[in-house]
Amino acid sequence: MIPAAEILGNHVAKTLQDLHQQIEAAKLITQALLKHVGAPALCKGCGAQILFVRHTASSGKLTPYDPDGLNHFGTCPKAAQFKRPKTKEATQHAG
Ligand SMILES: [Zn+2]
Repeated sequence: MIPAAEILGNHVAKTLQDLHQQIEAAKLITQALLKHVGAPALCKGCGAQILFVRHTASSGKLTPYDPDGLNHFGTCPKAAQFKRPKTKEATQHAG
């Protein structure tokens, strides 16, 4: 008789492996998509190669991406210098 933990362990390992493969596939798709829609540029903060993508469906703002598909705001060591300080006016209009 096979112990339940062993069956469950194999199942979890297989599920994680499948998930990992799906993530890797999604990364490749994202990278290919970025090459088509992104505008190559260099980050003014850290100098890294980035791709600007305009998010027309939501904010319409340009968002910088790393070539591997991650949002550069999340990976840039100088990200803090790009944050706009909230003004009183902006705060009042937001409410
Ligand atoms: Zn940067």
